[in-house]
Amino acid sequence: MSVIFEIFLREANAEGFSSSGGVDAEAFFKSKLYRKSIEHYSRAVKDDRIAAMEYLARGEAPRRDIEKVMPGTKALLCAALPYGHWPHAMPSPNEGPRYSRYVQGGDYHREVTLKLENIMRKITAEHNELKYRICVDTAPVLEKIVAAACGIGWIGKNTLLMNERSGSFMFLGVVLIDATIGADVEVMDDSACDGCSRCVDACPTRALCAPMKLDARRCISYQTLENKSGPDLSIGRANYGNWVAGCDVCQDACPVNEPLRRPPHRSLRWSMNWNEHIEETEAQFRSRVQGTPLECMSHERFLKNIVIMGGSD
Ligand code: SF4
Ligand code: SF4
Repeated sequence: MSVIFEIFLREANAEGFSSSGGVDAEAFFKSKLYRKSIEHYSRAVKDDRIAAMEYLARGEAPRRDIEKVMPGTKALLCAALPYGHWPHAMPSPNEGPRYSRYVQGGDYHREVTLKLENIMRKITAEHNELKYRICVDTAPVLEKIVAAACGIGWIGKNTLLMNERSGSFMFLGVVLIDATIGADVEVMDDSACDGCSRCVDACPTRALCAPMKLDARRCISYQTLENKSGPDLSIGRANYGNWVAGCDVCQDACPVNEPLRRPPHRSLRWSMNWNEHIEETEAQFRSRVQGTPLECMSHERFLKNIVIMGGSD
């Protein structure tokens, strides 16, 4: 193990990441895990299961060739920040508008990036020749697969990375560096998924059309957060339940997440009924979602979700 890798693991722990690891690029791109995953990815693009997320189609070439993301990449470091224990990670009550746990927290892109910057600052203080690039949903990298190759977790049938410690409630960050670290692919035991299909069975829209196969066009998360034209009702209005921003159904059904389940909760920022949402002004909405993953969403689009899912009460 290289000194750089040792510092990374030590500092990741100090920054509050629950798991971290790394893998040399050559070992990663030759691995069965990567080759299987990239074929899976291509198939999703060809079958149009990526919905209108064209950036995923454009990102296929760099996901196959890391030189296009950062020339000279020799290793991939990865760290996972758990959020299951945070107050916002408690499920929202079944009645009223429901939000996915992760959207109710802070902007994880910023938080994970800042933590990784702190770590890399310490590393480059001693190794100032090191070139690196931090990727937190900001570069075409298969983050979940990198994390799986680093032994941080396994990919469940719900397509999410998970481990026994944090369940599937983790934010991931990857750092590309131009030095080898002496680490091979390390795959975690995924037998917890053996004989289980609770996530697939629980998905209300059959977006999980088979184990580890997600059709984004049918996914409530995609429809409520990413679809610019608003939720597609051809997949059945009733199937949406009252999810207005994201969906946690497949995560809530997962036994690996069970120890992390808590009583329903809604933080003040999100404790609003349907009418309050409808009456909220644009300025109030902007101030409420500032610094959360919903910051990029327009008020108009959010209101459309509210009107479709709940109307007034
Ligand atoms: S987030 Fe919801 S709709 Fe999407 S796959 Fe999971 S359960 Fe299905
Ligand atoms: S619900 Fe079962 S099959 Fe799905 S991810 Fe969790 S353990 Fe795996």
